[in-house]
Amino acid sequence: MEIKKDSKLKGLIKRFGAIGLVCVFSLAIALTIAFNVPRGQQVSNSMAEFVLPMHNATIVKDYADDRLQDNPTLSRWEIHLAIDLQSEDMNVFSIYDGVVKSIRSNGLEGKVVEIDHGNGFTSVYSSLEDDVNVQQDGKVNKGQQIGRASNAAGNEKLSGGHLHFMLYKDGKAVDPNIYLDLQNK
Ligand SMILES: [Zn+2]
Repeated sequence: MEIKKDSKLKGLIKRFGAIGLVCVFSLAIALTIAFNVPRGQQVSNSMAEFVLPMHNATIVKDYADDRLQDNPTLSRWEIHLAIDLQSEDMNVFSIYDGVVKSIRSNGLEGKVVEIDHGNGFTSVYSSLEDDVNVQQDGKVNKGQQIGRASNAAGNEKLSGGHLHFMLYKDGKAVDPNIYLDLQNK
């Protein structure tokens, strides 16, 4: 990215050098703005290195922030800012290196592990079995097993054993499909 920017700048300076410094400075500002956009997107591209939270998983319920989905357990239609996954062995893995931000447990969500991956990304794994393999503030590696999915989440009990997986960017829930190739396993 930097090399591209330099060569573009050099070319522009050559072409516009005669006009004067003011013009060059204006172009430099314009280029800075232009190149800041792809630079921002690059963060998400590098997150293509995320691995899947379950192996060979089936999507039980997909993420949707723009439509209501049936929750038979609670007998209501609701938005689902998560992806529910099932797999044969039910093993759940951290999608990236990080630090365990919190571990909690309650009747509605079951056991919940929250991992901070840096760059504003946090992943949340709920409906886990009570016995998890990570500790509060502990370091986690990409692909490391966190625990096992179960039917511990009382608010989605009728879905059977599953992982309720959420991804946050800068504190806001985002569609995990943008960053993880969940549809193709
Ligand atoms: Zn869910």
